[in-house]
Amino acid sequence: MPSSHFKLTTRSITLLSTIATALLLTGCASSGAKDNLSQEEKPVVLTTFTVLADIAENVAGDHLRIESITKVGAEIHGYEPTPGDIKKAASADLILDNGMNLEAWFGQFVGGLNVPHAVISDKVVPIDISEDAYTGKPNPHAWMSPLNVQIYVDNIVEAFSDLDPANSVAYSQNAEAYKDQLQNVHDELVTELSHLPPNQRALVTCEGAFSYLARDATLTEKYIWAVNAEQQATPQQITSAIEFVKKNQVPAVFCESTVSDAPMQQVVEATDAKYGGTLYVDSLSESNGPVPTYLELIRHDTQTIIQALTGKN
Ligand SMILES: [Zn+2]
Repeated sequence: MPSSHFKLTTRSITLLSTIATALLLTGCASSGAKDNLSQEEKPVVLTTFTVLADIAENVAGDHLRIESITKVGAEIHGYEPTPGDIKKAASADLILDNGMNLEAWFGQFVGGLNVPHAVISDKVVPIDISEDAYTGKPNPHAWMSPLNVQIYVDNIVEAFSDLDPANSVAYSQNAEAYKDQLQNVHDELVTELSHLPPNQRALVTCEGAFSYLARDATLTEKYIWAVNAEQQATPQQITSAIEFVKKNQVPAVFCESTVSDAPMQQVVEATDAKYGGTLYVDSLSESNGPVPTYLELIRHDTQTIIQALTGKN
């Protein structure tokens, strides 16, 4: 365990108060197991965004402390790390990033750090972006297929087992249980969206973040811009979306929680489509919001799409 864990930083003070609160809430119930480390003693794993943190927590169980560099609601593609982020990363034991060019800031961020890091999209078969300056590059939003997240989970098990071999069996067991839940949520997504009639099988969004979900559910995908790094929708991009909606008589269109829906409202004004609601991709919600976990994110998006495209509430 690096000595940096024991420096009295702002983070550890905050953490100590969190632990104190947790102990007050739980009493002494958690002190039974002999090998239980306190929160302070657990190895720290940093992920680049909240969705990965939740996936990693499902594998970690109680053995690791998982934190996300970017906070709920943050724009993650063009994020600019703060000095506090760098300090936090320097004292972490492992950093997990999505890869596939998702985190444009990441290479520079970890360049000067002596902390192991794992790319958890490793071995995922990419879908290439087909429009804009990103043509031919892999679409980074691979987690929008729960089947891809099963691959993420395998990569996380490997990284956690290297970090903490004593608990490798627990990581594998947690992973198997979580992969069953991922399979269930995939099956739900495919079954639910299979009920959409043939003329309503188009998913129109702000960012081109739904290629993997659209593939799994056999929907046609249309977006205003390819990747959030250039989220200024050009007049040509908006016109293209308007033409698509008119031509295909798309009943509802969507935008994502981490960007402004103003460009999509222009599409709504120019067509017969209604605004179908907010979809979540690049961030979870707060714990009391609609998508505090990745599994809930997929379920929420599935239901939002179904309800808006079929007109059911
Ligand atoms: Zn995105």
